[in-house]
Amino acid sequence: MIYLDHAATTPVPRAVADAMYEVLTEQFGNPSSQYPMGLEMKRRVEVWRKTVADALGCGAKQLFFTSCGTEADNWAVTAACWQNRHLGRHIVTTAVEHSAVLEACRWMERQGYEVTYLVPAQDGSLSAEQVLAAVRQDTALVSCMLVNNELGNIYPIAEIARGLAVKNPQTLLHTDAVQGFLKVPCSAKTLGADFLTISAHKIGGPKGIGALYIGPRVRNPKPLLAGGGQEGGLRAGTEATAQIAGFARAVELRRENLEEKLLCMAKIRDYAAERLSAIPDLKILSAPGGAPHILSISLVGWPSQNIVNDLGSQGVCISAGSACHQGKPSHVIAALKLSKKVSGGVIRLSFGPETDKGDIDACADALRRHHDTRMPML
Ligand code: PLP
Repeated sequence: MIYLDHAATTPVPRAVADAMYEVLTEQFGNPSSQYPMGLEMKRRVEVWRKTVADALGCGAKQLFFTSCGTEADNWAVTAACWQNRHLGRHIVTTAVEHSAVLEACRWMERQGYEVTYLVPAQDGSLSAEQVLAAVRQDTALVSCMLVNNELGNIYPIAEIARGLAVKNPQTLLHTDAVQGFLKVPCSAKTLGADFLTISAHKIGGPKGIGALYIGPRVRNPKPLLAGGGQEGGLRAGTEATAQIAGFARAVELRRENLEEKLLCMAKIRDYAAERLSAIPDLKILSAPGGAPHILSISLVGWPSQNIVNDLGSQGVCISAGSACHQGKPSHVIAALKLSKKVSGGVIRLSFGPETDKGDIDACADALRRHHDTRMPML
């Protein structure tokens, strides 16, 4: 099998699974228990928290584990609006956010908030000026992703944070960094966002564990779950110890020779762009300078779902936009207002540190076969 869908999820290395297995079967104590096994687990959860926090460039006390990136996104949006409920009821976000942010914003709309959905340029780019121009005196929250999961564009979060400090210092900034963490420069300190979301399963960790960074400007953050006081009383529920152990181990592994891994991924992306460009009717959509692991392309005129199905049956796993939108047209591609023929043929290839040129060659051959043997339908 050729797996080129690392933006959807990633394989879990044996060392990560082993770390989780040990916690599931031997060190299975509840961190709230008062006997040695529980106390030891509490200590270890804090060590793992520090491992993830160090990779994110924040203090361990600023990092809260959640059940996934989606949960962290939902929490950030509602917590920011809660803190700024007296400031106003306006949110600025982008039309190309992940559904986890968009749906949280739509929920806020139903509570009476007004949401401005910024549309990027046709190449997926978005400037800090565009974001800041939409900010008003009553803007409670700006939520803008760090890396777009379908196109790979990197958005200027640090510049937005600096601009907000001048234009409206009370407005809180959230960035969904699920596709940026350990893929592009992603330090909480440098980016300057008040909330930052990450998720383990995009970097070789298990599914079902994410984290939210909450910065110092967020006073008395609104708890997500009330209960037994875990996660500093903000997100109650017995800690998912095996998932947290796996998250930390995945972070450690990914950080080993990280620069080298990122360079390899960028080279693979560029090789894929070059190799695929030779296929007739193939258009590269990802703009230069994007995240190293994502390449968006269109086989202009050929419906993307058919491509995904056909390549899948040839053992090549790719996606038609984001895995979270299977079967429906992607809102990200729709926002770019490309022609019907281009947008209908969009597929995403995404890479991991283990992807090699052979994988790309196999994908290119399968795509070429699809082009040559199937009729265009769009
Ligand atoms: N945000 C982005 C940009 C994503 O790509 C994803 C997952 O695809 C999520 C949020 C959701 O993360 P999770 O799958 O951990 O809920």
